[in-house]
Amino acid sequence: MSSQTDAPAEPKQYSGACHCGKFKYTFPHAPFENGEADVFSCNCSLCTAKGLLLLRIPAKDFTFTAGTLDELTRYEWNTGKYLHHFCPVCGTEAVLTYDEMVTVNVRTVPGLDLEKLKLKKFDGANLL
Ligand SMILES: [Zn+2]
Repeated sequence: MSSQTDAPAEPKQYSGACHCGKFKYTFPHAPFENGEADVFSCNCSLCTAKGLLLLRIPAKDFTFTAGTLDELTRYEWNTGKYLHHFCPVCGTEAVLTYDEMVTVNVRTVPGLDLEKLKLKKFDGANLL
């Protein structure tokens, strides 16, 4: 009989894209699509308006395979700590950047069943 221990899950390589496909990206993260890891749902006014569902990735692990961060349109608001980047063609918000982290909008990862995600509230309305 073997007793199972909770070893950290091996990261999986995910890919995402804006709606029109001008921007594509890939990033590693522990599996999350069946609720294995938390996905953050922020209650600030912008995330609420856009419906963002978020995962943070170290910037060094995040790679654009089509387009670049500079080609996305940047939106800065509030404290300006988080920079929002969206496609100038289709308007999809792909990522937020903050310090050395990239926060991916997981709604841009194709094939996810959003009902299966384990959403965790992030109180951005009060914390940002
Ligand atoms: Zn686009």
